[in-house]
Amino acid sequence: MGEQTPAGSGGILTRTQPDHHTATMSSLLRAIPSVDRLLSHPGCRAALSLHGRDHVTHICRAVLDEVRRDIQEGRLVDAGPLTDDAVVERITARLDAARSPHLVRVINASGTILHTNLGRAVLAAAAVDAVLQVAAQPTNLEYDLAKGSRGRRESEVERLVTALTRAEAATVVNNNAAAVLVGVNSLAAGKEVIVSRGELVEIGGAFRIPDIVARGGATLREVGTTNRTHASDFAQAIGPHTGLILKVHTSNYRIVGFSSDVPLAELVALGRQRGVPVMEDLGSGALVDMSTFGLPREPLVSESIDAGADVVTFSGDKLLGGPQSGVIAGTATWVNAIRENPLHRAVRCDKMTIAALEATLRIYEQSPDLARDVPTLRFLTRPLAEIAAVAEQARGRLALALGSGFRVAVDDGASQIGSGALPIDSLPTKVVVIASDTMGADRIAAYFRSARPAIVGRIKDGRFLLDVRTILDAGDLVPQH
Ligand SMILES: *Cc1c(COP(=O)(O)O)cnc(C)c1O
Repeated sequence: MGEQTPAGSGGILTRTQPDHHTATMSSLLRAIPSVDRLLSHPGCRAALSLHGRDHVTHICRAVLDEVRRDIQEGRLVDAGPLTDDAVVERITARLDAARSPHLVRVINASGTILHTNLGRAVLAAAAVDAVLQVAAQPTNLEYDLAKGSRGRRESEVERLVTALTRAEAATVVNNNAAAVLVGVNSLAAGKEVIVSRGELVEIGGAFRIPDIVARGGATLREVGTTNRTHASDFAQAIGPHTGLILKVHTSNYRIVGFSSDVPLAELVALGRQRGVPVMEDLGSGALVDMSTFGLPREPLVSESIDAGADVVTFSGDKLLGGPQSGVIAGTATWVNAIRENPLHRAVRCDKMTIAALEATLRIYEQSPDLARDVPTLRFLTRPLAEIAAVAEQARGRLALALGSGFRVAVDDGASQIGSGALPIDSLPTKVVVIASDTMGADRIAAYFRSARPAIVGRIKDGRFLLDVRTILDAGDLVPQH
């Protein structure tokens, strides 16, 4: 228990507060119950059947400190006598609040389909089911049921990735950043990694190619210029210390105009000739041709494999639409080298990720309708007429719910894919615009964020917008408090 300074004993409070106040304050301070007395109060005893004793005691102390501060700062002085019931009420409210999770559902009306801050890809129903199955029960994660002996945790993921990309072998780690790190470390530790200057990208969240190469234990050897790099630049840089040629898909920006890079096939030819492996970081990496959905083209993993890359890395939770993970596909020799690296063990995936990734990849292998079954692809390919119909419904419901102080309208907008995929391409969408005479866009945005579930829109040109592309049910856009 903290030190109590009785009011009236010469503190600042006695000199600045009138006498009847200090008297009340000291009587209030004296009325503060002890932790033991609180714990035997029926309210706290009930709480003890739901919560551990340490946790309840900790909250009791925190609430008592708060009550003491309230009294000393004059906030409880005119509130009547301090009762144990009132303190216990505060404690149980605090215990209830502490039970609700920090991670909660949010409605993504931001217009960015793969929003890193909002957890990127929404999993397919089959992937969610698969996670539930393995989360709550034991599973044959590393157990071969036919043989009754140890198995490999990623054998099915490997079968699916190799089938979908034509690679010889595959493995998976926690994210693509880890995939690049463990790839560089396995192929080129203590050696040089040659990268075009135009591909020394920063992806955000502190992923920078030069840093990853350094942390991978290799030395970066930059070649070419920002806008142009030629095969001869690579050829001249290869020497006895070269360990790897690394090609990076510049996912989140584009160099246009007088620019050129060296196609992967040429790097592979050069690498073969000089005995140097070639790795490509594809970033998003698509398993299906996005142009068949009428979307801008994103490089296919299978194209990089066909072009002869020794190792290709890509994210599981970008365009693929699966769980956060980094997939590594390539030749058996190099994938085995990566798998045997202790760093791989340090960044391996857990059973829930493996289950979700497996289920997502199985959709790619077997579904007759990917755009229906993979939510990311569904949002990307959603017909504008369908978006417009939901926007119209949402407009009506929001106008009704918000009342006369607000103006609600539907307008044309542009959605982004996000997570660095297809950075300058946007998709036509419909947005619900919400304006008010008394509240600015910031305050309206905060009001929607304070709803439960929270609704995250965006502010563009001073207007608050809700992008309907990722909204399947118009009711989701009506804030509930
Ligand atoms: C997104 C991206 C990464 C990082 O992938 P994470 O899965 O987010 O770790 C690495 N390289 C490129 C080119 C990317 O686009």
